[in-house]
Parts: sequence; structure tokens; C-alpha cells
Amino acid sequence: MVLALPALADTIVLKNGRRIVAVRVVEEKDHVSYETAAGRLRLPRSIIARIERGAVPSTTDRAANLEITPPPLAINLSYADIAALAVRGGSVDREYISRLEVAAQGGNAAAINRVAVAHHAAAQLELKSGETEQAINHYRRALTFAPEQTGLLLQIAYLHLRRSEYTPALDYLERARRASPDSPEIAKLTGWALYGQNRTEQAAEEWQRALRLRPDAQVEQALETARQELNVEARYREGESPHFVLRYHGGAAPELAREVLRTLEEHFRAIEPELDFTPAEPIGVILYTNQAFADITRAPAWVGAINDGRVRVPVQGLSSMTAELSRVLRHELAHSFIQMKTGGKCPVWLHEGIAQWLEGQRSGEYAALLVTAYERKASVPLKVLEGSWMNLPGQMAGYSYSWSLGVVEYIIATSGMRDIERLLDQVAAGSSPEAACVGVLRMDYAELEQETAKYLRRTYLQ
Ligand SMILES: [Zn+2]
Repeated sequence: MVLALPALADTIVLKNGRRIVAVRVVEEKDHVSYETAAGRLRLPRSIIARIERGAVPSTTDRAANLEITPPPLAINLSYADIAALAVRGGSVDREYISRLEVAAQGGNAAAINRVAVAHHAAAQLELKSGETEQAINHYRRALTFAPEQTGLLLQIAYLHLRRSEYTPALDYLERARRASPDSPEIAKLTGWALYGQNRTEQAAEEWQRALRLRPDAQVEQALETARQELNVEARYREGESPHFVLRYHGGAAPELAREVLRTLEEHFRAIEPELDFTPAEPIGVILYTNQAFADITRAPAWVGAINDGRVRVPVQGLSSMTAELSRVLRHELAHSFIQMKTGGKCPVWLHEGIAQWLEGQRSGEYAALLVTAYERKASVPLKVLEGSWMNLPGQMAGYSYSWSLGVVEYIIATSGMRDIERLLDQVAAGSSPEAACVGVLRMDYAELEQETAKYLRRTYLQ
């Protein structure tokens, strides 16, 4: 379990002027490392000018790092024998539970409690083997019999919170509050859900309420974290739209912020059907006035833009929307979708290939270069482009973007967006990227590279 950390991120300033907002920056002898959703990334010291500590509020799924233990069970434990029967021999006895459910259909309170206990025991067994989805299903089923049971509502809310699914968690907690308005446990978890939704001020109010009802060291710690953040965030003004929560430094023009939100909503509607995915929570957007455009320069620091699913946009010198800014927003938003759809497991070549394709780029002008590199056996294997591109030599970055676009374009041109979607689903489910290609495209990397080169030749060079 990760300890709740101070909510400030650091800024790594590179010698070329690029600024990377990063969390958990560790300085070592010849390199500096920092945390991203894809693991720790390392930068050689030689390219770093300085590190500014605590410059920007941290946004790396900070709510997931809160140290909050499961709520106590509020179901009468004298039903221990029922629990034992429901999970006899280390597996769930579905027939037994069905019989309890039949008996509970008449609405008898004791019979309903037995169903609740049985499903709770089954859920806890599923959790031991990591089957959170199954556990949630058990609580959901139990709630059809006991919709007001605070204990069940708290358990299911807790599981959603652990999975960073704040909106469904909040629905269950609101139901629980109607049944038990003065439960400190409900206030505690509600604070967590609100915090996860970036509603830090309301989260702090809930946690204060929880503390008035009952002292709790975990809540005190969480409240302190939220307060520190609110102090820093006071410098930011906020903007909201249906799918986005926008923050920007006081220096950015308010009209620009509104146009950014409008443009993002348009891109959201376009990307949603392409990837057949709707992010469960509002997406955080941060406008910076002091950062160069990562995706225009294509500097290796692009990772700063995708490390936590948020859209980070440098808008220095801009006062209204431009075609270029719109393109960058679409590219970064694509990264957010992919990041959330795969739980951060998408390989970098697929990430960047899809983001460029959705942004509207095609391979035409790079086709000759890519085909030549491939035919001279000078192309970089996809395997190498799966992980961080940080250690690629500078001139390779542009090539890597183009090659990734070529591969994704080939896949979409040949078998359509649905195969891209299936690839993302497979890596999300834990397949290695190459295994996902074999599973979905019936091709290993070597074949995929060869077919991409053939596609580029026949489409653009003949
Ligand atoms: Zn990108």
C-alpha cells in the first residue's frame, strides 16, 4: 500500500527549455527518475537544467493513493454458519445461495439477511483471488433483496472507489446516506469519491463532517492532503464542461479557456465512437502558459502529456483557438482515452500511432523514408517502441512517430477501427502487445512490420 504523499508535483526543466511536470522525482548520480502510469521513467542528468520542487499540484491519480481501509461490516455476524455454507470448500456454492434467495422472496427480514451474508461471504472470497468484478456482482445481487442495507452499500461503494470509479461509488453512498444520515463511514467514503472527482473543496467538507461524527486518523490525513492542495489551487481558476474539468494559471485568457473546453467537447464526441469508449469520470485539463508544445517539437518529453490521462496543454502566447492548438488538443485527448481504456497498459507505438491517426495525420509524406528504412533493415522493431522512447537518440523520435502512425494506419486501412479497439481491449486484459497482435490480427510483429511496409509502398509509392 502506497502512503498518502504530499500532493505537490515537481517540474523537471530540461536544458532545451522543455518542462516536465512529474511526481515522485528521485535524483540519482547520473540520472533522474519519475513516476508515470507506465512505470518509472529515467532521464539522463546531462540533459537536465534543474528541478523545481513542488511547483504544480499533483494530478497522478492521487485519490487512488489515499490510505483508507475497507469499512467495517454492518451485517449481523451471528450468521457465520451461513457464510461458511455459502463458500464451502473454497468456492462459491451458487445453488445454496439460490435457495436462500428463493426463501427471501417473500420479504422475510431474517431470510433477506441470510442472502446478504451469503453474498458478502462470496464477494470476500472472490476478492481474495482478485475478482473485484465478481465481488461487485455479488453485492449488486444482494442489494436487489436489501436495497437499503447500509453495510452492503458501503462495501460496494468501497470496491468502486478502489477501482477509481467515483461516480457509481457516489450513487451508492447517496443511497446509504438516506438510510443512515449520520454515519461517519459514509462521510469518509463520500469525501474520497468527491476527491477522486476533483471536487476537492466538497471532499474536505465531507471529511470535516466525518471527523465531527467520529475521530479517525485516516480522515485527518486525507483532509490535510486536501487542504494543502486547496492552498495551491487557490491560484487556479476553474472551468467545467460536461466531460472536462479545466484548470489554468491566472495568466491564461478566460476566453481561450472557454474555447479550449468547447473544442475538447467536439473532439470528445468524435473520438468516443471511434474507440467505442466513454471515460467514466470527467477528464482533467491543465493549461500552462510556460511550456513548449510537446507534440509540435516532438521532444522525448511527450510522456509528460500522457502520464496520468490528463490533458496538459501549453498555451503560451495564445489568446484564441488556432487550427494547430485544436490538433494538439485532439491528439492529447486521444491519449487520455487510450490511457483510460487500457488502464495505462497501451504500448507507446500504439498510443502514438492512434493519437496521430485520430488527429488526422496520414503517412504520405513519410512513406518513402519508412519503406526505405524497412527494406534496408534499418527500421526500429516495434518491440523496442513498446516502452519508453526516452532513451532513443533525438533523430529517432520523429521516425518513431511516423513508423507508429504507418503501422496503425495499415491496421485501420486493412481491417478497420474495430481491430484497433480489440487490440486495446486485449492489452487492457493483460496480453502482451505482441500477443494481442497475434490474437487480433493473426500476425506477430515481424509480419506486421512487413505488411506495413508493403501497404505504404502500394498506397503511396506506386
Ligand atoms: Zn502523443
